[in-house]
Amino acid sequence: MDNIKYDRHFLMDTGTVVEFVKANTDFFDAGSKLNACEIGDGNINYVFKVWDEATGKSLVVKQADKLLRSSGRPLNPDRNRLEAEALKLQGELAAGFVPKIYNYNENMYALIMEDISEYKNLRTELQAERIFENFPEQITDFLVKSLLPTTDLLLCRQEKKERVKKFINTELCDISEDLVFTEPYYDYKKRNIITDGMEEFVEEKLYRDEKLKAEVGYLRNVFMNNAEALIHGDLHSGSIFINESGIKIIDPEFAFYGPIGYDVGNVLGNLFFSWANKLCTGSTNGRYMDWIAEVIPEIYNLFKQKLEAEMERLINFPIYNKSFQRRYAARVMEDSLGFAGTELIRRTVGDAKVAEIVSVTEVDRRVRLEKLIISFGIRLIKGRSMISSGEEMAEEFKRLVKYDI
Ligand code: ADP
Ligand code: MG
Repeated sequence: MDNIKYDRHFLMDTGTVVEFVKANTDFFDAGSKLNACEIGDGNINYVFKVWDEATGKSLVVKQADKLLRSSGRPLNPDRNRLEAEALKLQGELAAGFVPKIYNYNENMYALIMEDISEYKNLRTELQAERIFENFPEQITDFLVKSLLPTTDLLLCRQEKKERVKKFINTELCDISEDLVFTEPYYDYKKRNIITDGMEEFVEEKLYRDEKLKAEVGYLRNVFMNNAEALIHGDLHSGSIFINESGIKIIDPEFAFYGPIGYDVGNVLGNLFFSWANKLCTGSTNGRYMDWIAEVIPEIYNLFKQKLEAEMERLINFPIYNKSFQRRYAARVMEDSLGFAGTELIRRTVGDAKVAEIVSVTEVDRRVRLEKLIISFGIRLIKGRSMISSGEEMAEEFKRLVKYDI
């Protein structure tokens, strides 16, 4: 089988992926007996684990197809190259926070990477009410380290423009522009999935509020035009893997040069899903409830502090002085709140719903939960310039909880 050149794309299975790994890495000893299975749970790509029975060594292969796994519609498989390039760069800037890349094959649209299965999906862990004391430090470290050095506050401006070009991600950005920034407010593709009992609320609060549309339009325009940093582009809690020893961030196929606040906002927004879910389902785990209520504002505050401190430490261009840096950080935080809001809303009315919502099947509870999440999302979008600390953000949420539940 070593005569296969892998110069043209074909979709691999558990047999061919073993040959592919042998031909493209020397990770396993020659002659070792390898097994493979499919572990992907996403609806976009194919993910395989390949391991050596004798030594227990393993790695993961992620392959993009030219057609979407779920709907069969075409989607540029070059996203796999962008994912590999983004992981490489993030691995250099924020060592240890992403899986190592062993090989990328651009003809096969397949990347071979470190197996991080010792870490667990954060969304699932939060649903199980597990507490991770170091998460705020870890995630804010990842964000600041992986984002700030890709901006032209630090990077030579010619190099930065080359990177903007390299990371143009037309088709995946197009998905976000529609699903995050258009359809929840203007259902022109008729793809929204509205829970029974939510129709009037969605109609009034999302489809008919012109002031909200203008604010979302503004955020949409920021997303599309502020090529500020190389962002992950889909940093929800299913892209964050965690255990007692740390975190690993996977799946940056939506990476492109965009606003820093989009990543920060996705992290914050997705944590609110857990808080809202546990409140509405009446969790009696006081320790978890205290932790989740503290961890969200802490992440906001720590990120802002670290961003300001790193700017002060690393920037030595006199025009970007302290006063500039303060204003820059404040604007990033304002964007983050707005993007947390758009994430909360799109995951509630769009078709990419989250487990924290769909797992609530009791009708009244579900409606109450969705109303809370949408109302808070709107509050964040409209009020983002008035909120300037993690505590104020959390207070807004608590006020709605008191009022709604
Ligand atoms: P998709 O882009 O199709 O959503 P993901 O990159 O999110 O694919 O991967 C799907 C799943 O495969 C993840 O949720 C995780 O369980 C598993 N997975 C992906 N990459 C790795 C890895 N490097 N190590 C271990 N498991 C992984
Ligand atoms: Mg993905």
